Amino acid sequence: MLASHLLVVLPLLLHTHAFQFPFRIPFLTTQPKPSSEPVPHPPPRVAIIGAGPSGSSAAFWLSLAKQRYGLDDLEIDVFEKSSYIGGRSTVAYPYDNHDLPAVELGASVFVGSNKNLWRAADEFNLTRIPFKSKAAEGFGMWDGSNVIFAVTSSWWDYPKMIWRYGFKAPKRTDTLVKTMIERYLSLYSPHPPRWDNITSLASTLQWNDLITQSTADWLQSQGVSKQFIYELVEVAVRVNYGQDVEHIHALEGLVSLAANNVVSIKGGNFQVFENFLQRSGANVRLNTNVLSISANPSLPNYWDVRHQTNGGRTEVGTYKGVIVAFPMPRGPGDFIHPPPELHFPQRDYVKLHVTLLATTCVSPNVTFLARNSGKEVASLEGQKLPRTLYASTLGLTADEVEFNAISYLTELDRGEDAPAEQEWIVKVFSLREVSDEWLRSALGDTIGWVSRKEWDAYPLGTPSDEFAPVRVDKGLFYVNSFENFISTMETSTVASRNVVDLLLNEEFNGAGVCRRSLSADDRAAQTSFKGPKGFVFGWDC
Ligand SMILES: Cc1cc2nc3c(=O)[nH]c(=O)nc-3n(C[C@H](O)[C@H](O)[C@H](O)COP(=O)(O)OP(=O)(O)OC[C@H]3O[C@@H](n4cnc5c(N)ncnc54)[C@H](O)[C@@H]3O)c2cc1C
Repeated sequence: MLASHLLVVLPLLLHTHAFQFPFRIPFLTTQPKPSSEPVPHPPPRVAIIGAGPSGSSAAFWLSLAKQRYGLDDLEIDVFEKSSYIGGRSTVAYPYDNHDLPAVELGASVFVGSNKNLWRAADEFNLTRIPFKSKAAEGFGMWDGSNVIFAVTSSWWDYPKMIWRYGFKAPKRTDTLVKTMIERYLSLYSPHPPRWDNITSLASTLQWNDLITQSTADWLQSQGVSKQFIYELVEVAVRVNYGQDVEHIHALEGLVSLAANNVVSIKGGNFQVFENFLQRSGANVRLNTNVLSISANPSLPNYWDVRHQTNGGRTEVGTYKGVIVAFPMPRGPGDFIHPPPELHFPQRDYVKLHVTLLATTCVSPNVTFLARNSGKEVASLEGQKLPRTLYASTLGLTADEVEFNAISYLTELDRGEDAPAEQEWIVKVFSLREVSDEWLRSALGDTIGWVSRKEWDAYPLGTPSDEFAPVRVDKGLFYVNSFENFISTMETSTVASRNVVDLLLNEEFNGAGVCRRSLSADDRAAQTSFKGPKGFVFGWDC
């Protein structure tokens, strides 16, 4: 049971319903619009900066509101500095061969309680595949020198888990996770809260304790045993957020443990975000770096967005609303003029190294992993380790942790090019780059392909009730303030829905993603659609 809990984010309910998109699709305009010097009355336009989960979903929510409110003139421009859509949701192809199945290089899974992504997969005819890493066949916990605990998927090993952790700690933790999810699901209800700062949302959801205490302290205060927290919860938090239970707040700790119905999209999760943009009718400008946002000098409440195209040309567009949909860990600095009056607490991002590789080694090399244990090599030879290893590293400094996880993801079949032995795709998460030599020591001379990526992965979840503002100024909003609360693909789409709601309400005559001030009859009509498996605010109104 717990093995399935070790692999990521928020759980939820399923959903399916056919949905109509009467959108025009001027997708991926290749020619940038002519530079718009400030003009007396520019058409109503919204700029979205960033085409990851936050920005792409913001465009989608705006397009739904356009349709619902008849905001026909409203134009949406999405600026993306890289050459692709999806941000931290992107894939790599083994041996760089696009005929082989894609492997997630960034955000890899979502869960049942992620109603927007679940619904999007249904609406866009994308195939959800259950996430089955080889961890389901067992895993080991490594403390820097020894494998301290290992289980297989055999029923025989469940008593081993219970012997080590007892019944109470897993059961209590499960209840705490379920309570968190129940409250979280209110964000999809017909009357979800609208928030312009995260602290007020935390109060509404009664999560003040969760955000101001570390995972370790809070779980102990709830009666969960120390051993369970420092071993199993630690592993989940490390795999999901690259941090440890003493330094990450309890909300993200619980999110790491909420892993019912773990899935990914066949071919890559990024397709959800491509679909959001495609169906939004937005003008998407790839390879376009936004340099700054400044208040228009002659038009009150309009913003100038200065951006640089691929060819190095700098242009300026004037917008009634601007949505910043990428992280600013150290605040806006010179990016926003005049500098916002509201405080942006500094929240650095975890530098995470993701190493994908193909190997014929059947499991990590036990003598390599036990080299610091003082054990005789002879006593280890012939021992087999589980294919997936997680670091449970109490007492080690970040520098001493060699890896957070080594996961065997799937078998690789390269057809005629395949080696004689079975080949595997393995993913290593580490806080430092793992060298070729390190990989060879851990897996032998069996590695046929390696791909490395260093991410600014997720914010440090330092316990605090201070968050960057959601509404930065009139018409100017910041989606990623939500990431210090919870950082997932799904919550990016929830945060962007809220931002779009605020922006429309403020700048477009009280509009919103769904109508809010309705007569009882209108409301009954708008909330009558339940879909086969439940109402999802924004998709349904
Ligand atoms: C290794 C890894 C594993 C993860 N695993 C999971 C997981 O399993 N499940 C999950 O739900 N989440 C996971 N996450 C977290 C998830 O990826 C993020 O929460 C999510 O991508 C945030 O979306 P975003 O759109 O806010 O930011 P991003 O995805 O970072 O997108 C921001 C976009 O803005 C662009 N941009 C930045 N600056 C500018 C500029 N000046 N001008 C124009 N464009 C700009 C960037 O190029 C980028 O495309 C993982 C992240 C990493 C790195």
